[in-house]
Amino acid sequence: MGQQRTRRWAAALAACSIALGVAACGDEEEEAPGAGASTPAATSTTPPEKFAADTTMGKLQKKGEITIGVKYDVPPFGFKNPSTGDIEGFDIDFGKAVADALGVKPKYIEAISDNRIPFITDGTADLILSTMTINEERVKEINFTDPYFIAKGRILQKKGGDIGGVEDLAGKRVCTALGSTYEETLKKEAPKAKLRLVDSYSECLELVQNGGVDAVSTDDVILTGMIIQDDSLELVEGEELTTEPYGGGLKKGDTEFTEFLNGVLEKYESDGRWKAAYQKWLGQYTGEKAEPPTQTLEDVVPAA
Ligand code: GLU
Repeated sequence: MGQQRTRRWAAALAACSIALGVAACGDEEEEAPGAGASTPAATSTTPPEKFAADTTMGKLQKKGEITIGVKYDVPPFGFKNPSTGDIEGFDIDFGKAVADALGVKPKYIEAISDNRIPFITDGTADLILSTMTINEERVKEINFTDPYFIAKGRILQKKGGDIGGVEDLAGKRVCTALGSTYEETLKKEAPKAKLRLVDSYSECLELVQNGGVDAVSTDDVILTGMIIQDDSLELVEGEELTTEPYGGGLKKGDTEFTEFLNGVLEKYESDGRWKAAYQKWLGQYTGEKAEPPTQTLEDVVPAA
């Protein structure tokens, strides 16, 4: 991580502290020190089920570890805390729940938007929890869990900018991530925009801050994370561009592991952990309350 990027996270955490008057951005939760690894949370009350050795669950249990691809620069879903080196966020909390249910250690690796599917197909990651939208195209390449969060497509600009909606993006320089759903959305909805495709969202943030682009377009929660870091930015009012149901990504055809993950998700949502994570990473900043999504994978992609 470059100096600038590190400074930015320090600023983000400071901003969180200011906003809350308390310890920054989820720091209240006890975490094991170290590069991204953490001990199983105290939330699991029943000992993990022992799975057959020939299942993905059994193999992960034998290894004692699950490799989860997450974002490192997208607070509040996945980011590297500059003061502790820990990987934190809404996606990470769900990852912990999965690791706990297996009784293994989570190992987090950075999966930028464009790496997510290759990391699953080539076995670099066992699971992707990286603000990844379930869609028809992706379902052809990997399996998805049921949706664990529903984000919406929005536009961000500097406060007082003259963009009032997607129709105003013509001729504007707009940043989004390579390999994200917005590559296509923007080409379709704003064909006259000058698209700036970058590897990671922290680059978009930097570009909009220093005037290198006029706007950033991606999921509302990612853009909200940018505003938490820099309140000279704002969301463009108006209609949401898209609906983006986030799913966990795993190897194509691994039905048992998909069912296992959906079981973990169901419990995570019904026992209050989902709501607690929402409150911790989003609700306390936005003042909004939310319920876990009720849709299944088939509701999102009927042919999946
Ligand atoms: N949810 C969208 C996607 O999966 C945008 C966020 C991202 O790039 O991580 O492509």
